[in-house]
Amino acid sequence: MSSDSTAPGDNLRIDGSRLWGSIMEMAKIGPGVAGGNNRQTLTDADGEGRALFQSWCEAAGCTMGLDQMGNMFARREGADPDALPVYVGSHLDTQPTGGKYDGVLGVLGGLEIVRTLNDLGIKTKHPIVITNFSNEEGTRYAPAMLASGVFAGIHDQDWAYDRVDADGKRFGDELERIGWKGEEKVGARKMHAFFELHIEQGPILEAEGKDIGVVTHGQGLSWTQVTVTGKEAHTGSTPMPMRRNAGLAMARILEKVDEIAWSHKPHAVGAAGHIEVFPNSRNVIPGKAVFTVDLRSPELAVIQDMEARTQAAARKICDDMGLEVAFEKVGGFDPVAFDEGCVTAVRSAAERLGYSHMNIISGAGHDACWINQVAPTAMIMCPCVDGLSHNEAEEITPEWASRGADVLFHAVVETAEIIE
Ligand SMILES: [Zn+2]
Repeated sequence: MSSDSTAPGDNLRIDGSRLWGSIMEMAKIGPGVAGGNNRQTLTDADGEGRALFQSWCEAAGCTMGLDQMGNMFARREGADPDALPVYVGSHLDTQPTGGKYDGVLGVLGGLEIVRTLNDLGIKTKHPIVITNFSNEEGTRYAPAMLASGVFAGIHDQDWAYDRVDADGKRFGDELERIGWKGEEKVGARKMHAFFELHIEQGPILEAEGKDIGVVTHGQGLSWTQVTVTGKEAHTGSTPMPMRRNAGLAMARILEKVDEIAWSHKPHAVGAAGHIEVFPNSRNVIPGKAVFTVDLRSPELAVIQDMEARTQAAARKICDDMGLEVAFEKVGGFDPVAFDEGCVTAVRSAAERLGYSHMNIISGAGHDACWINQVAPTAMIMCPCVDGLSHNEAEEITPEWASRGADVLFHAVVETAEIIE
């Protein structure tokens, strides 16, 4: 996969200003209210963005495939008809108040690779396929990475079709309505490799002054919903020794969650983003608290340790206070270790190009995390300003974008093997 004869010369670069121009063109579709984008999955704007992407791919000589989940596959032929394609891509859908780069950079970076190969008249042994996965964001239709999940066999297709949005509209119906439901069986394609370029969505690369994140792992995640039951009582007239305060128990448990996450520094994290107390009234001691503990780590054993210690700590705290506690696992996925050969291709591409780089762990979920289960996969990250993402103010520099796409170009083209 990494013999030097199949690697592009170290002087080869993509056209950064053409890439940037395409990103800005795409951003005109489904504009947000504050300079970003609202191009949520299976909306009319999503359909428009898909059509623009397709027209660009066809102008670059690709043929478009479309599967039953609406995943798009633009193919540039290779010299060997039997060679499996090298896939590259991400997603074009956005959050309701999303940025211009999350997902888009990975899809249009793939397009830029093909355009550059065309400019240079380079043929590869393996075909190259640019992919746009449907509904990566998961805001309109939960869960996130829905269509790449069906592709990788994680989710059942009919179950995915039956997901409904806040207005009760089914995923399957909306996919048909916008005209992007294909005939092709989902997951039937076999991949030689898959590469995804994405903005970091975190602050590490910028803080470290690095151009490129070589993504070695994706964090695993565990969501446990905790219900603490005490007794509602008046906040004024109930003596302190007689209180069974579920809110206080929650506070003590969350202190423990924080401590447990710190004990696995630097990569593990833990917090509760969703908390509710009942009845949530100023002068009532909470009789019940419900919250979801979110624990993440790139190592499965660490996640399991944090889950076990959180539950033990919560039981002890509640026992001591005379409260009941119950746990329900409401979500999660195992950590991802990306393919060594693909990760090495990314790292050597950055080195060949003379770009500063560091290993990094993806804290967010990505389509690549599911595709990694069915094909050798790696990710490339570029910095984003202040680590801000899922926000209309999300920003990157043209230079970060083109360096990321240069690395994508070199890693993909080396893997697809230049033949002339
Ligand atoms: Zn994304």
